[in-house]
Amino acid sequence: MKAIPRQKPIFRFAPSPNGPLHLGHALSAILNHDMAKQADGRFLLRIEDIDQARCTPDFEAGIFADLAWLGLTWEEEVRRQSLHFPAYQTALQSLIERDLVYPAFLTRGEVKARVAVGEADGIPWPRDPDGTPLYPPDDRARSNEERKRLLAASLKHTWRLDVDKAIAAVGEPLHWHESGDGERGDIIADPAAWGDVVLSRSDAPSSYHLSVVVDDAAQGITHVVRGLDLFHATSIHRLLQALLGLPEPLYHHHRLILGEDGKKLSKSQGDTGIAEWRRQGWSPLELRGRIGL
Ligand code: GLU
Repeated sequence: MKAIPRQKPIFRFAPSPNGPLHLGHALSAILNHDMAKQADGRFLLRIEDIDQARCTPDFEAGIFADLAWLGLTWEEEVRRQSLHFPAYQTALQSLIERDLVYPAFLTRGEVKARVAVGEADGIPWPRDPDGTPLYPPDDRARSNEERKRLLAASLKHTWRLDVDKAIAAVGEPLHWHESGDGERGDIIADPAAWGDVVLSRSDAPSSYHLSVVVDDAAQGITHVVRGLDLFHATSIHRLLQALLGLPEPLYHHHRLILGEDGKKLSKSQGDTGIAEWRRQGWSPLELRGRIGL
């Protein structure tokens, strides 16, 4: 009898080239790289550049330079999301055909106004785990005729997941296996907490949530290692995986690196950028020390 070859674990680091990488990215990249090595697995790189207005070739070049300086190596070829829009469109189309998404026409201003009116009587509007108000029900409630009419008028719109319908379509509770620095073990997914998330933007034919699940499947990712700020987003990722028939990776959400002010690092904080550390003459080893490795 032939032995079935064991599938190698596959890890990925998936930065967006919309700013310089900071120390939190360094932690993510190093953990993915080292965990892959330890597991005799593969380490892939993915450039998450669906936001063509904010992503630039310079930031992308900076990512490669920073990772190389850290001493990391990754496999060719690098997956670039902007080259895979048709794959995300196919996934979206399958959800349109199953009536699990709807075109959403409210502008940011209209949403804000709806929330303000809703909160005027003192009842707080429901918010997602990141604190953003859930999308109002107006567009979800439209008839198919009305949707067709609005789409035919070429009004600017996104496509949103009807999360209640989607949960019902899956029909069973969703979980994921977590081994990170926060809650661990079997985690019960709560996609409803996010409301009707955007799956396709008005300025790009996809969204973070849709692209990330399509890509993790396309790249055969078995282990998703990323910051704890994306822990709750995993609930939506599990729902999309179940809807689209995609495999379920293992998840490891690692601690975040905080700035001097105790706040999460952002790409606009130049002083905590990897490139800035390099310019100031620190070594990669010293940087590892700063991030507790
Ligand atoms: N592109 C995301 C970021 O830069 C990471 C997405 C992920 O690892 O799932 O924060």
